[in-house]
Amino acid sequence: MSATRWSNWSGKQKSDGQVQVLAPVSESELSSVLADPNHSGQRIRAVGASHSHSRIAAPDELMVVTDNWQGVTGLVEPLGLPQPDLSGPARMEPSDVDDVASSRSTSDDLDQSSPIVRVKSGTRIFQMGEPLWHLGFGLMNQGDIDRQSIAGAMSTGTHGSGSTLKNISASVVGARILLADGELAECSRWIEPELFELARHSLGSVGLVVDVDLAVRRRYKLEERLWSEDPNVVMADIENLITSNRHFEFFWMPDRDKCACKSLNELSSNDDSATSVEPIEQHSKLHRSGWSHQIISTLRHDLHTEMEFAVPASSGPACFLELRVMILKRFPDLQWPLEYRTVAEDDLAISTATGRPTVTISVHQDVSIDDQPLFDACEEIFRRHDGRPHWGKVHYHTGADLARLYPRYGRWWQDRDRFDPDGRFLNSYVEDLRP
Ligand SMILES: Cc1cc2nc3c(=O)[nH]c(=O)nc-3n(C[C@H](O)[C@H](O)[C@H](O)COP(=O)(O)OP(=O)(O)OC[C@H]3O[C@@H](n4cnc5c(N)ncnc54)[C@H](O)[C@@H]3O)c2cc1C
Repeated sequence: MSATRWSNWSGKQKSDGQVQVLAPVSESELSSVLADPNHSGQRIRAVGASHSHSRIAAPDELMVVTDNWQGVTGLVEPLGLPQPDLSGPARMEPSDVDDVASSRSTSDDLDQSSPIVRVKSGTRIFQMGEPLWHLGFGLMNQGDIDRQSIAGAMSTGTHGSGSTLKNISASVVGARILLADGELAECSRWIEPELFELARHSLGSVGLVVDVDLAVRRRYKLEERLWSEDPNVVMADIENLITSNRHFEFFWMPDRDKCACKSLNELSSNDDSATSVEPIEQHSKLHRSGWSHQIISTLRHDLHTEMEFAVPASSGPACFLELRVMILKRFPDLQWPLEYRTVAEDDLAISTATGRPTVTISVHQDVSIDDQPLFDACEEIFRRHDGRPHWGKVHYHTGADLARLYPRYGRWWQDRDRFDPDGRFLNSYVEDLRP
């Protein structure tokens, strides 16, 4: 076992001091983290890729690195699904996949018949693309980047864009979690439903996630278009842009007052007419296309920190306009963009999209600059629009503020405390969000 000082991707967040580090390589090593008397009573924090901008992954005492616990295990049946016909195979084999893919999943909508893959919790999203493709599948959607771990993405409600596409947590249909009492619990909508509800936005504070079962769909190709546009033109047509594209988003650049727009639309899987993953220019737009895992996410090399709020979709245009006016007046030299995306409504207790079609707006700032003046000014506007802060990004909301935004927030905490009465899976950051 070693010790280190944890910091996140941007280097902006650091643990208060040195923390002990474990990097289990097997399920039995993961289990022994809880059984080991040397760690009894210590606060445990699993970390994925440490890409959260908030201190949600900051370990207080013991950090469990999941980089040695990665990989797509394969197709599985839903955990706890009542099986009327017990004579069928317990697990599907890869050879069954074509049949499953054609019969089970033909759209973005997650339904009970979607194929399900089991993924080890430390698996980065980019490590899933090829193995899933070989099985005949693709993820429903992805975020801007694919460097996150699946457990980290699930625990904070990571999302991409698309008014019919939900966040990653909503694609999770089961999980295996080591609880504070050392038990390895399985959960899904059919077994331990309260634990399942907690797990899908675990905030790292429920247990050590071992595996995640994800609903996937038949593999698919996407065409990307990128173009530059005046923000007034974009906002005059925003509803059409959102509804006529599978995925639409834009980055507004304050220093130029211009929008970099991006759309993604599905191609037929047999369509080889434009299969270049490198961009090609056509009519002032850049085009590229390929399989979903090659196209949706991009790399972000420039270190930054970020605030993001989810507002009701109907408030998105007004909220963006207020932010734009404020930033042009008070922060005209801001060199970092605002990003405008959509997320479909879900019914998860503390999802930022629960109960309402959603627009997310994120604000970026350079890591070398004090972000608080900009973020304070933006949060004031987000609050007026009933904004819900992204769980993995910077915000200044208290537990009482969050309880006002989520009717089931108090219940989430009661259930969490039941599974972890001594708070071994809390850290000081999440503890401060208690209602
Ligand atoms: C450049 C960049 C781009 C981003 N783009 C997007 C985007 O497009 N959309 C979006 O929604 N977000 C985005 N984010 C935010 C990011 O997706 C989330 O913060 C996500 O949680 C990061 O995943 P991670 O693996 O780094 O998790 P970490 O930051 O390491 O951890 C997040 C939480 O998950 C918990 N956790 C991790 N593994 C486990 C486990 N095995 N068991 C229990 N708990 C665990 C941690 O304790 C912590 O509470 C971006 C962040 C960056 C830096």
